[in-house]
Amino acid sequence: MAGEREAQGAILAGGLLTLSRSLYMAANHKKFLIFFDFDETIINENSDNSVVRAAPGQKLPAWLRDTYREGHYNEYMGRVLSYMGDQGVREEGLRTIIEKIPVSPGVPSIFSLLRAHHDLFEVVLISDSNMYVIETWLQAAGLRQLFRCILTNPASFDARGYLVLKPYHTHACQRCPANMCKQKIVSEYLRQRQEERAGRPFDKLFYVGDGANDFCPSVIFGPADTVFPRHDYPMHKLIKEMQQSQPGSFKATVVPWQSGEVIATYLKTFLDR
Ligand SMILES: [Mg+2]
Ligand SMILES: [Zn+2]
Repeated sequence: MAGEREAQGAILAGGLLTLSRSLYMAANHKKFLIFFDFDETIINENSDNSVVRAAPGQKLPAWLRDTYREGHYNEYMGRVLSYMGDQGVREEGLRTIIEKIPVSPGVPSIFSLLRAHHDLFEVVLISDSNMYVIETWLQAAGLRQLFRCILTNPASFDARGYLVLKPYHTHACQRCPANMCKQKIVSEYLRQRQEERAGRPFDKLFYVGDGANDFCPSVIFGPADTVFPRHDYPMHKLIKEMQQSQPGSFKATVVPWQSGEVIATYLKTFLDR
């Protein structure tokens, strides 16, 4: 009897030891946050142009294209989707096109690496495309599970079967389109997650993008962070302009990429240090 009780005590103590060790490890566990843009970053096209392939003749009439106003792309895209609905385009037609959009070169290597280290990385998608396009594409590619969340314009089918687009939020940023400022999204996300993580900030931030709207959030990244602008795309050009006009003001490390392999290799080297 005594031996049995001792054995039970040892098992209990062992259990507590394991528990406290895993709590200790959890408390000291490094956590990195990586943001991805979608259009021309994850996928190798602008999805707003891709969906037009579902329209009759695979293009839009000139009168519709002429309604675009600078800084109001989201509203324009709403009119495009409404026109496509009028032309009889429904979910099936859109889905067929979306699922075939090609991934950007080398980007699958980044996802393989992130999947292998899912305990170290929190992965977030921020895009000015829309929820329907992104979820449809990610699900077809088997990638939906990789992302903790998708922050993008809401889109859903109405009773007629038309895809209806809404703006993400409102903001006061001068350089971003009316419906979305990614800097506002990133700072709100960081604040919210730090609160949820008992005040702990992430150990390092990464940002993969290509557009002018990816430049806006990248200026708030610090010297410990790394941004990956697609080589010679607007985000990269704007960073270079800022580095030249105000030396030292752009804080993050900049690693341009033409293939996602560059990013995968960088992350792997960073983890191996
Ligand atoms: Mg983009
Ligand atoms: Zn902005």
